[in-house]
Amino acid sequence: MNGNRTGVPNPPVIIAADNRVPFPHTDQKLRCRTEPVLFAIEDIHDSDADRRTREKAIAEARRDCSGCPIVVGCLKWALANPDLTPHGIWAPTMPRERTELREKLVARLGEDWVGVVAAQERRRKDQERAARFAPPTVRDPALARLEREAIPTRPTPYNRWKQPITPAQAASHRHVLELVASGKAA
Ligand code: SF4
Repeated sequence: MNGNRTGVPNPPVIIAADNRVPFPHTDQKLRCRTEPVLFAIEDIHDSDADRRTREKAIAEARRDCSGCPIVVGCLKWALANPDLTPHGIWAPTMPRERTELREKLVARLGEDWVGVVAAQERRRKDQERAARFAPPTVRDPALARLEREAIPTRPTPYNRWKQPITPAQAASHRHVLELVASGKAA
């Protein structure tokens, strides 16, 4: 899947997408594909004759994007491909908002922010893959057993009729009493 929207009136000439940030895959029906015209709305200007209708359409498209399963990946793709997304609503930003976001990314990550984001994404996927496939080492079960033995999850209950109180228990009781007296244990 790529981010190109067929069906948009006057589609732009084919521009190659930046393949460092691929458009996310989904099997779900996306409304921007089934009703691309709804997402091809431009910013509202003061001169707009039918301002209210446009506002309603923009709100509807934004709502669809907000519930979209690939909204985060779509936004990254749209930001990384300014030449392919100069108009319309994408995930769920207007052109002006995308420009502002790109400026912020340049300020934070540098001119090659797309490369930085792509590298981060690669690292995240590698880590996820490694965590999924890493076989348990010989030491893992031994360490888990040691931990269970050394840190009993449930201490043996204290039997006040049979066991004398230890200095540590006495100190702990004093501490609790002090907390209650000071009102901090309420
Ligand atoms: S976030 Fe919006 S523009 Fe992007 S794929 Fe989803 S519906 Fe389409």
